[in-house]
Amino acid sequence: MPIALKNRFLQMLKKQIVRALLFVLLALPLLRCNQKSTKGDSMQTRPNFIIIFADDLGYGDLGVYGHPTISTPNLDQMAAEGQRWTNFYVGASVCTPSRAALLTGRYPVRSGMTSDKNRVLFPDSRYGLPETEITLAEQLKKAGYHTACIGKWHLGHKPQYLPTNNGFDYYFGIPYSNDMDKVSEKDYWEYADSIPTAYYNVPLMRNTDIVERPAEQHTITKRYTEEALTFIRENKDEPFFVYLAHNLPHIPLFTSAAFQGKSKRGLYGDVVAEIDHGVGQILALLKEQGLAENTIVVFTSDNGPWLPFKTHGGSAGLLRGGKGTTWEGGMREPCIFWSPAKIKPAVVSDVGSTMDLFTTFSLMAGIPVPDDRIIDGVDISGTLLRNEPSPREGIFYYRGATLYGARMGDYKVHYRTEGAYGMFGGLEVHEPPLLYNLSEDPSEQYNIAQENVPIVEEINVFVKRHQENLVAGKDQLADRENTIDSSVK
Ligand code: MG
Repeated sequence: MPIALKNRFLQMLKKQIVRALLFVLLALPLLRCNQKSTKGDSMQTRPNFIIIFADDLGYGDLGVYGHPTISTPNLDQMAAEGQRWTNFYVGASVCTPSRAALLTGRYPVRSGMTSDKNRVLFPDSRYGLPETEITLAEQLKKAGYHTACIGKWHLGHKPQYLPTNNGFDYYFGIPYSNDMDKVSEKDYWEYADSIPTAYYNVPLMRNTDIVERPAEQHTITKRYTEEALTFIRENKDEPFFVYLAHNLPHIPLFTSAAFQGKSKRGLYGDVVAEIDHGVGQILALLKEQGLAENTIVVFTSDNGPWLPFKTHGGSAGLLRGGKGTTWEGGMREPCIFWSPAKIKPAVVSDVGSTMDLFTTFSLMAGIPVPDDRIIDGVDISGTLLRNEPSPREGIFYYRGATLYGARMGDYKVHYRTEGAYGMFGGLEVHEPPLLYNLSEDPSEQYNIAQENVPIVEEINVFVKRHQENLVAGKDQLADRENTIDSSVK
């Protein structure tokens, strides 16, 4: 080979080698990164979710929401480290429809999980959450999440309606309210300070089997927390979703010996303190296991306080009304989000809803929300992660399958108002509707409809838009095998 040609060939070879080296050098980190994200995809990118859901806990029942004698140091700390929402709503003011709203991201009128005949499901109800509904657990299963429902279900007690047939790998809990299957004829107050477990013959289930009946309710909060801790430990290497729905502080109130007689607020305060203690244990475990940075925990409640139960019912604080009503006290709840590396600490006064958890958590896990149906949840991740304004325009207040009111921005109209459980009067239809500015008047004391006709009209249009695409699902709550137990809600 002539020397000139040889030199040219060597130069070309050198160039090729340099190019190849450069390519390897540039591509290596990308390849490594790719390998890492493939291998540890679930660990790296998909957050774990824990929803802790209290039963009948009111807006004013936590220390951090202003209660003067209920001690909730763990929830207070969680709020200080995370986001505390002050305008956060459930989808209904009683148990069954509220739980359906949270798990499906839809107003329960769409799924038929609300009714003008029975407000909730009972131990003799025929039906439950329709198979066609998609739960948050079913969504997260699509991305390989390990899922557990621990606690109160109340979306149907027959096998086909249980959590294990609705996207949950595991279930442990009482399938409905802890005051059902009541066997005593005595009035609650005759034994309220020392409640015999046997008076409420509720089953405790593991997956689809009854493992205890009556459920020993004095230790139920403690056992639910322990089940959650075990599930987290056993599934810490995979993405997981824990829906921990406590049966308490719904009446009858029970607490384990360690908490009995400790709170200045009495038994109700003891019960809330035990739930708070469990929250502390869960957050401590997440920190200890190095999971805190990649886990989002949210604490809220299914509806407002059950006020006729006097000191055994909670408090809605400065809000009007309670459980069962469409006044703020029935549907606005304490809500705290926590995740040290993700959630931007703040007090958020924008509007949010339990229905938003479906949409937000699905998208955070990389799963699109279903597009074959209307989903009422909106993505609030911008607020949670970056403290941006909430995209939620407002909220609709249903009682059963009937729309009673609507909030848009700061303003709320009532087309109808009605008390519940013998409190706050009978049904009133308001023409023109009542109007309150909830930012200035959170206790709904001063009707300003007359001076603000254009605002009422604007909300009417908002309602009309909602109703135009509304198809009510077949009522799942109306049919019962018999009608006993009708006093229990
Ligand atoms: Mg409830």
